[in-house]
Amino acid sequence: MTSRKTFLKTSAITGAAMLLNSLHIDAKAEKRERKNKQVNKPIVLSTWNFGLKANEAAWEILSKGGKALDAVEAGVRVPEADPTERSVGYGGRPDRDGRITLDACIMDEMSNIGSVAGLEFIKHPISVARAVMEKTPHVMFVGDGALQFALSQGFPKENLMVPDSEREWKEWLKKSEYKPIVNIENHDTIGMIALDANGNLSGACTTSGMAFKMHGRVGDSPIIGAGLYVDNEIGAATATGHGEEVIRIAGCHLVVELMRQGKSPEDACKEAVNRVVHLMEIRKKNLSDIQVGFIALNKQGEYGSYCVQGGFSYAVFDKEGNNLKNSDAHLIIPKK
Ligand code: ASP
Repeated sequence: MTSRKTFLKTSAITGAAMLLNSLHIDAKAEKRERKNKQVNKPIVLSTWNFGLKANEAAWEILSKGGKALDAVEAGVRVPEADPTERSVGYGGRPDRDGRITLDACIMDEMSNIGSVAGLEFIKHPISVARAVMEKTPHVMFVGDGALQFALSQGFPKENLMVPDSEREWKEWLKKSEYKPIVNIENHDTIGMIALDANGNLSGACTTSGMAFKMHGRVGDSPIIGAGLYVDNEIGAATATGHGEEVIRIAGCHLVVELMRQGKSPEDACKEAVNRVVHLMEIRKKNLSDIQVGFIALNKQGEYGSYCVQGGFSYAVFDKEGNNLKNSDAHLIIPKK
């Protein structure tokens, strides 16, 4: 039988242990809280200067505690719907056969993914990509199959050609020079990555691809791991520029893996650009003919970018406001 003395002793020890344990739990919670406070969230970043307007739509959701996934979809729908943004969605530039074929993908914090490539007549490929992710057991639909799926989901079939795109295409046809050039005047894909108030990451990427591309050509933008990658434990990255070069190095997956190894977002982007440069050198290609730009965001809300040629900008919306940043570049080419 337990004596009164033993009972008191045991109770005192148990009490002290419980107190220590609860102090320990408090300290842990406090540490977590402190760490959470240091996280720069919510935050959204997106490629090129049309990212500013897109970020506003994303911020509407993020600032109210909404999900990063909803924010990135709403954000990139802005340039998709804008006929004056001529490299995305409605008003996008056609391929060399005069067909507007759109590419998009989306990825959430659970590594759910959805993608469409070569999709015609649908203004919001990003939302079709999300429907692929949420309503099918698959991850990627292309061409006619993607269109049939979109129509079955109630997306309206629309003419996406605007007079300016048609005029430019007809002008291009006169020489039919197959030399897609990527620069600030001809800015491209919108890639958007966000960290929400709950600390979850998501990303979206949408484009009409290289202007006057060969019909059927698909770039990096709808390819998970190339034009976009999200790992909710590490960070997210998205790309713009010559899709062929981004695919060659599995660009955005590489950027996220480099962050996993401890690199800052900017250093990870820089290392990925170095990889592009190295492969161009090995293949004896002229670097000044291409542009590739990466933007990246880590779990702490730190961000960065890097590109091959000067002139790549990206927009960041966080507690500091919505600001356009110029990316550092491997090559600084003087303006003519
Ligand atoms: N990455 C896109 C593509 O290759 C175009 C771009 O962003 O410049 O289709």
